[in-house]
Amino acid sequence: MTEGSFHEVVVIGAGPAGSVVSAMLRKRGVEVLILEAQRFPRFSIGESLLPYCMTHISEAGMLDKVAKAGFQFKDGARFQRGGAEQTFDFTTKYGPGPGTTFQVKRAEFDQLLADEAARQGVQIRYGHRIEGVDLAGGPKLTVAADDASRYQLECRFLLDASGFGRVLPRLLDLESPSGFPVRTSIFTHIKDGITDQRYDRNKILIAVHPQYQDVWFWLIPFSDGRASVGVVAEDARLQQYSDQPDQALKALLAQEPNLAGLLAAADYDTEVRRMSGYAANVKALWGKGFALLGNAGEFLDPVFSSGVTIAMQSAGLAAPLVAKELRGEAVDWELDYAQPLKQGVDTFRVFVEAWYDGRFQDVIFASKQNPEVASMICAILAGYAWNTDNPYVARTRKRFDALVELCRGL
Ligand code: FAD
Repeated sequence: MTEGSFHEVVVIGAGPAGSVVSAMLRKRGVEVLILEAQRFPRFSIGESLLPYCMTHISEAGMLDKVAKAGFQFKDGARFQRGGAEQTFDFTTKYGPGPGTTFQVKRAEFDQLLADEAARQGVQIRYGHRIEGVDLAGGPKLTVAADDASRYQLECRFLLDASGFGRVLPRLLDLESPSGFPVRTSIFTHIKDGITDQRYDRNKILIAVHPQYQDVWFWLIPFSDGRASVGVVAEDARLQQYSDQPDQALKALLAQEPNLAGLLAAADYDTEVRRMSGYAANVKALWGKGFALLGNAGEFLDPVFSSGVTIAMQSAGLAAPLVAKELRGEAVDWELDYAQPLKQGVDTFRVFVEAWYDGRFQDVIFASKQNPEVASMICAILAGYAWNTDNPYVARTRKRFDALVELCRGL
């Protein structure tokens, strides 16, 4: 053990969950060290935020910096299927809270959040990867730095915000399969070249493949004429396309007439990436001396852009509990962390399942919309999946099934 090898809280990963929870802990007077495996700025997928996460950004004292960073303003989501189109304006959502947010290049956004956490007194070590953990006694970590050194450190509480790295689930055998089939996403950043004046850059565009209802595309414009574009499909569907990601993505985009038209002048100047099997779950979200945040816990699916919001919600729930535990007070992590977090995740789950089996698509593209119901659905799409005043949150499956029946009868 070296000097400074004991910390009150160690956070694994400087993604949105890690930076936000660390800042929230600093505000409670807690000493925090983040260990981040990569050097920033680094690429991350997940560029479309939801308005609800602005509440957490604000609580972490980062709202001013985020609002002034020049990110693309976002106020809604547009869905397209064939000739049908539906727009959700988040400012008309049911219930209180922000109705707008941003579309962000994550390399810049994550760097900004991490810098803000550091400015508030969080210590961050980049290029330091957690390789081992021992929970007998207090949490003891083995760290490998990218200068080839290795060391150990101890802490009173450990927060795993390692995202798809899923450090503690792997090391502690906590992984459990997701209920969703294995899907693959192919994506890149482009110079979008969009000149169509009717195109609204303030909204994410989600388009359904004309032939396969379970295959969908996203287009997330940034503020500098660039955009994130991608497709999601089950592997079996992708077998008919090239195994070269760039060729597969272009072939799929060419099949969706709206996107093909919009992106006719696009410049594919960046590496096209392919990511598979990202849906994941865990047997437990906490244990003695540790808790899992964000994607290190569960990841559902990208379709409703809920990942960063769930990550920040987990941070918002965990921070006061960690502070309480460090004060020596009893904390019921199941009742006050796992259950409330899962409640919102389960609301999203109902919508994700119903997106892929086509039922939610039938609701979205129904010819008649009840404005009150639409505003409640809109609130969930805006990230407010924990507001139990919303009947579609309080009794998601029951209300949703009834809505599907109604829409299919129209
Ligand atoms: P991350 O952002 O993944 O951060 C984890 C950090 O931990 C990383 O910086 C990593 O380097 C570090 N780390 C990993 N292992 C170690 C280790 N051993 N030691 C130290 N550090 C480590 N979400 C949205 O909100 N909007 C979207 O539009 C969206 N689109 C998506 C599209 C696709 C195809 C996919 C797969 C996901 C998408 N997501 C989206 C989800 C989003 O990417 C994640 O939910 C979000 O990044 C989770 O944040 P996090 O803080 O939990 O983890």
